[in-house]
Amino acid sequence: MAFELPALPYARDALAPHISAETIDFHYGKHHQTYVDKLNAAVEGKPEADASLEELIKTSSGGVFNNAAQIWNHTFYWNSLSPNGGGAPSGALAEAIDRDLGGLEACKKALADAVGTHFGSGWAWLVLDNGKLKVESLHDAGNPMTSGQTPLLTIDAWEHAFYIDYRNAKPKYCEAVLEHLINWSFAEANFANA
Ligand code: MN
Repeated sequence: MAFELPALPYARDALAPHISAETIDFHYGKHHQTYVDKLNAAVEGKPEADASLEELIKTSSGGVFNNAAQIWNHTFYWNSLSPNGGGAPSGALAEAIDRDLGGLEACKKALADAVGTHFGSGWAWLVLDNGKLKVESLHDAGNPMTSGQTPLLTIDAWEHAFYIDYRNAKPKYCEAVLEHLINWSFAEANFANA
């Protein structure tokens, strides 16, 4: 059973003007698709072809890890965004953000710093680590599950995530995501299921 590109959870133009349909065409339609194609080519005829992405992320290295993690990370990223995003989390997640990260503004600043100050390609993550919320900045195809952490939200800090819409202004991309697109409901559900 070959790996497949999951459906986008909204229309291609649903995140505009903050993330354009053109960015989605390249980022989802070409980059995300290419990770799927490369993983399928790498595992064809091998036992890894029957593994889950989560298993490959936790047990593989090199090209198989990079492509499996990039498939998983991008699917998680599309779900970390919403046309009705922004605003504030509620309930248990909001309480944990106050307790562990010093409140929502501090949490958003930590995520913005994790994207904005990241040198090279990588991902910013809100994670649960031994019952405590943390913000992590991971390089390349990095995924918190390899450290035993539970991912709650992610923001793509690769240049291909913002260059069409924001050119070199990575902080503006991150600000737009945090103000208008970030899907706290998704993080609340991940936190509740952790
Ligand atoms: Mn990306």
